[in-house]
Order: sequence, then structure tokens, then C-alpha cells
Amino acid sequence: MNAIIPINTIVESGCGAPPEIIRERGQREVFCGLTGIIWMHRKIQDAFFLVVGSRTCAHLIQSAAGVMIFAEPRFATAIIDERDLAGLADANAELDKVVQRLLARRPDIKLLFLVGSCPSEVIKLDLHRAAGRLDKQFGPKVRILNYSGSGIETTFTQGEDACLNALVPQLPVTDQKSIMIVGCLPDIVEDQFARLFTEMGVTNVSFFPPRNSRDLPAVGSNTQFILAQPFLGDTLRALESRGASHLSAPFPFGIEGTTEWLATIATAMGVSQELFDKVTAPKKARAEMALAPLKETLKDKKIFFFPDSQLEIPLARYLHRELGMALTEVGTPFLHKQVLEKEMALLPQNVQLSEGQDVEKQLDRLKLAKPDMVVCGLGLANPLESEGYTTKWAIELVFSPIHGYDQAADLAELFARPLRRKAKLQFDTEALCN
Ligand code: SF4
Repeated sequence: MNAIIPINTIVESGCGAPPEIIRERGQREVFCGLTGIIWMHRKIQDAFFLVVGSRTCAHLIQSAAGVMIFAEPRFATAIIDERDLAGLADANAELDKVVQRLLARRPDIKLLFLVGSCPSEVIKLDLHRAAGRLDKQFGPKVRILNYSGSGIETTFTQGEDACLNALVPQLPVTDQKSIMIVGCLPDIVEDQFARLFTEMGVTNVSFFPPRNSRDLPAVGSNTQFILAQPFLGDTLRALESRGASHLSAPFPFGIEGTTEWLATIATAMGVSQELFDKVTAPKKARAEMALAPLKETLKDKKIFFFPDSQLEIPLARYLHRELGMALTEVGTPFLHKQVLEKEMALLPQNVQLSEGQDVEKQLDRLKLAKPDMVVCGLGLANPLESEGYTTKWAIELVFSPIHGYDQAADLAELFARPLRRKAKLQFDTEALCN
């Protein structure tokens, strides 16, 4: 572990030198990869996610999803009970029965993920083998795959990475020139990007994952892909192993990130600068107008990121460069240099980055930094609020549509709202006291 460098100053200078990085391994405060099921089951509309886990796992996803009892959700938990843990029951036979009952009752399921958890890993239940066995039984009508959402040494956005990584070998082969956008995007955002590509004359664009599991995009050596989310390092490597090439770009958060991301695609597909400017200019202008009032709230406010969603570095870049926020510490659970190289080049010189977490030490640094806003997980937010900090839940940033020009102001609003609320509370309290 590197020495801890206390934050004495907030660096406001320009870009260039590689930022300093604190690397820590200690107690962490993050959700596990099961959380990804919440947004992925909404995206792939004929998929079902069967967690093989404990009652804790079931409670986690049910409360995260806010499931209504009359809904038929597309996820569930096959509970591993004491008999399984004690080795008294054949967990594989039990699992086969659960899958059989599920598929008989739900003919709408075309893709079933067996999702591993801490308990399934503790009892060494081989879900890869189970998925292969069940796939032979139920395929090709239903495809059955597996991935791990376990919370051991992972963070919650890795669930999506593991899921997409499991899907990559299923992608059909093509030798056509194409662009693939990789990462779950809300349908509304996907439609906005699709319209922009059409206006630029870019055809042969696919989105991975697709809305329907039968529409998996094809991949090959003439496929170029670009990540829409910064937490997909394993998926990136899996696509490269299928011959596709990665386009590196800043992520489409804010006006600058969106423009750079779209420009990378446009250049790869031979779109002229003139057409690119013509298509993007009105959207940029509209986004700039929407951002202007939010700048007033956010400018010069100090922000501190705990490592949680892996969105921290692109968001810090956006908040600093487009809204004038001052970066104190930017923590991220993992720092994939290949994925983030273009983002890191845009960060202010000598910004304090941290990778991994030792929560007590990071809390000490937070107290030194005295930020106006803290981005953190749910477990830290309430205690920090009670100490007078203004917080933003990192998980909300993954659940909300935040990509692209049309969402640039919505994204800024997510940070401005808690600051305005705090200012109003202070004002009201002072008025009461006077
Ligand atoms: S997978 Fe592990 S960390 Fe996640 S809810 Fe289950 S037991 Fe908890």
C-alpha cells in the first residue's frame, strides 16, 4: 500500500501531468454485483436473473428494486438453506428443479442467467457447469448462462461487466464494418443516440446488450466498439478476444464528454466534420442553455468522491470542467487505465485520485478536505449527513439516465439539488432562530 498523502490544497491547475494515485486495500463500503440485476432486467426484456444465494441476497435485490408484490419480476432468488450449506441436499438437483418449475411457468423467458453469490461460492456450487447442463436441456428455446454477482472483492457495477462478459461468446460472427455501443443505457438515451447516428448517416450501429436477447449484435475483426460505461473492463477484453477493436474516448457525460465520444465514433465511420458539427451544434447549444443556471449553484463547490460506482472519474471530469466544481479526492474502486486514459488526461493536474478503499483512512482525509458535497454509498451517506455533510448516493447515478446532451443538465441537477436543499434548510433555521 502506498503512503497516505493528506490533502492540504485543492489543485485547480490545467491538465497534463499524470494525477497522483493513492492505492488502498482495507475495509470497503460498497454493494455487491447483484445490484446490477435491477437495471439489466429492465434492459434485456426477455431475460430472467435467477440468483443462487441466501435470504440476504433476496432481500438486497428486492429492496433495491422496490418490487411490488403483484408484479411478476424477471429476477428471483433460489435460496440456499441450511441443508444445502450442511451438504445434506444435492444443490444441483435442487437447482434443476427450480429452473424446471420456473421455465414451465414463464414461457416468456428466452435467456436465463444463473447468478452466483457469496453463499454459492462458499459451498463451491459450480454454476458454470450447471448452466451448461441446463442449457443442453432447455436450449435452443431458452439459453442458459451464468455469471457471478458475489460481493467478495467486487463492487456493484461489476455485475453488469460479468453479465456482458458471459454474453460475449454468444455473439454471432460478422466480417462487416460496424460499430458497437457497449453498456446498458436506458432506452430513452439509446434512442437519442440512435437518432444522432442516423442524422450523421452512420448505419450498422448496434447496442450491446440489446433489448431482446434474440437480437444479439454480431462481432468480428471489422467491428469497432466503444464503451458507454466505464466499468466494463472484462467485457472490453472479451470483445477484443473476438477480434473487435476498442475505440478509446471520454465517456458521454456532459457536453464535452458527449461530443468527444460521438466524434470518436464519427471519425471511425468517416463522417465529415461539417456534417458532425451540423448535427451536434443545436444539441450542444440547447444543453449549454440548460446548464447555465446550474453552474451558478455548483461553481467552486468542493466535491469528494468515495469509491463506489466506477463512474467517479468521468463524473469528476464533467463536474470540474463544465460546472467549475473543485475536486478534492476522487476515489474509484478500480482504475482501468485502458478504459480511462482519455478521461485521466482531462483531469486537473495533480488531482488526488484513490483506488480501492480503506474506509477509516478515507474518512480521515474527508475531514481534512472539508468538501461541500460527498458522493458515496448508502451505508456512508446517513452517518455523514448527520455530521453535517451534504451527500449524493453514488447508486442513484447508475439508476438515472445521465448520458448524452439531453441529460447533461439532469446530471448536474442531481448534484445541485442537495446543495440547494441544504442552503434552504440553513436559511429556514436561521430565520426561525432570529
Ligand atoms: S452476494 Fe454476498 S454481498 Fe451480495 S447480498 Fe448476497 S451475501 Fe450479500
